[in-house]
Amino acid sequence: MPDAAQSLPEFWKSRVEDVEEAIASAHVGSVRVVARTPGGHKVHMVAYGPSTNYDSQANYMSATGARNPAYYADKPDAGPPVVYIVGTPHGQEVENVVGTVNLMRVGETGADWRGKQWPRLAASMRECRTLIVPLSNPDGRARCMHDSFVGLPVDEMTRVGQGTREDGSMYGWPGAKAVHPMKGDIGLLGAYFNDDGINLMHDDFFNPMADETRGVLGVARDEAPDYIINLHSHGAAPMILSTAYVPRLHKEITAQFGERLQARLESGGLPAGGPPGVSEDGESYPPPSFNLTSALHHVCGAVSLLHECCHGVREDRYPDATHDEILDIQLILFEELLTFALEHPRPGVA
Ligand SMILES: [Zn+2]
Repeated sequence: MPDAAQSLPEFWKSRVEDVEEAIASAHVGSVRVVARTPGGHKVHMVAYGPSTNYDSQANYMSATGARNPAYYADKPDAGPPVVYIVGTPHGQEVENVVGTVNLMRVGETGADWRGKQWPRLAASMRECRTLIVPLSNPDGRARCMHDSFVGLPVDEMTRVGQGTREDGSMYGWPGAKAVHPMKGDIGLLGAYFNDDGINLMHDDFFNPMADETRGVLGVARDEAPDYIINLHSHGAAPMILSTAYVPRLHKEITAQFGERLQARLESGGLPAGGPPGVSEDGESYPPPSFNLTSALHHVCGAVSLLHECCHGVREDRYPDATHDEILDIQLILFEELLTFALEHPRPGVA
């Protein structure tokens, strides 16, 4: 199976080194390090488009306590929407690394690594403030021995992603969340986790265990994004998932965006899942998780979305997807989100 790497297309830039090269060659985007991992990697953020100095006199939680989010970020009406892309908290979800590295290429040159032009996306990246953390969990990605899951069985993704016990049995989903930090009975530490066994999606957000989590949340706090997208992958068709513990209005905006993305993917003949429903949290037991997507909202007030791409695994119950199609799904997601942000720059503001 590792031999499959030799037949991967050139544009399939899914490795930690691919991110480092993209960061090193960024000239249009401005780069900073937001975290250092227990495995010794840096987590980078690259920003495109204009920055705005907001008047800020309170953190978001206090500003909403004072009944006016402008005390946290007093955004000018005509200022650019800020869109924050959080890449690959789960290291085996390599499709999202391909997406963010190619998005950076579009930001630098107007074209992706295939040479395909994305004029609307490139223009939107200049018009919005576009913040990209291309890979928030480089430790996990470095431990994932597959550069692609296209054509592989889903069990292999589960083995590598969620890891195994010493006897070789798989933790699986959601079993991999039942032990956290993931320590002790480990055969293979899943790519879900950083090298300390932390799953960034389920850190302690009021006292984070991982520097990566602090860094990712810190970007949101400092930049006051209007929209955030947290990038994941699964076997099924691409879809936007609902975010728990956010305002009702944001759930409605999330569903609206999910519908729009589905329509765009379908019109391109690509696999597409349906939009999330809009419901109250905790209508039945057990309650939903307050996860990284939820936490990102609560530090800055953004509409915080989660996208699941498809892996292209070889399973009857899941859609096929080629490498080309997966890259298109990624860049279409970004193009639609930035367009949506430009159309609705201050979501939820009366
Ligand atoms: Zn994930």
